[in-house]
Amino acid sequence: IITVEHLEKTFGDHRVLKDINLEVNHGEVLSIIGASGSGKSTLLRCINLLEHPTNGDIKFHQQSILTSDFDLTDYQAKVGMVFQSFNLFNNLNVLENCMIGQTTVLKRDPAQAKKVALEQLDKVAMSPYVNAKPAQLSGGQKQRVGIARAVSMNPEVLLFDEPTSALDPEMVDDVLDSMRALAHTGLTMILVTHEMAFARDISDHVVFMDQGVIAEEGSAEAIFTNPQKERTQTFLKRYL
Ligand code: ATP
Ligand code: MG
Repeated sequence: IITVEHLEKTFGDHRVLKDINLEVNHGEVLSIIGASGSGKSTLLRCINLLEHPTNGDIKFHQQSILTSDFDLTDYQAKVGMVFQSFNLFNNLNVLENCMIGQTTVLKRDPAQAKKVALEQLDKVAMSPYVNAKPAQLSGGQKQRVGIARAVSMNPEVLLFDEPTSALDPEMVDDVLDSMRALAHTGLTMILVTHEMAFARDISDHVVFMDQGVIAEEGSAEAIFTNPQKERTQTFLKRYL
């Protein structure tokens, strides 16, 4: 569903991504792990075109997303993103946060958008908070709204950039449970995370990034129980 080919991203003279190649098939969960600064967020941001790649190609259903006539709005609705810092609209309540993208981007009528939003908020156990403003919610609750909002857009692929790293430890499990439930629905997911046990549990494929390259990749089993490269072993030791 998404193919990354020889992707390069440079900021000034800093090569942040170097010859990245990967493929995510329908219904798969891909996890990206690696040290701070290794380029994980930049890779996700290139995939949904929050950053424009310097070189290489990204394909969605075999079609390049980098051509000038590509429909970016349509693509960003199909490839959603859940952010570390939630990125909710603070002036809108929970329900409105989950409706606004549906009504403006997808042109759904408000009644339909509300129905979808309520369904998704129920799935992340946020129904009691539909009228609350983000400022009244805990971090874990905000992130579950972030997930409900993203899923309300009915995406084909959902990208997660460290969705639990800004949360207090006691909030993490609720968010991971919501993500696990989503993975079980067959949604295609690309996830940047430091939650190694979780990544190991839900991923079909794991990519280890180091200084802008994919240093090692394989099944969750292969990467976590039998990493081949020394730098993967060193990295994982810090988390086990
Ligand atoms: P972390 O685990 O800390 O989130 P990361 O793997 O997500 O790290 P990136 O955020 O992708 O790393 O950053 C990779 C490198 O690119 C870093 O050295 C960072 O300083 C640099 N970088 C990222 N975004 C920009 C930007 N907009 N302008 C200049 N440099 C950037
Ligand atoms: Mg990052």
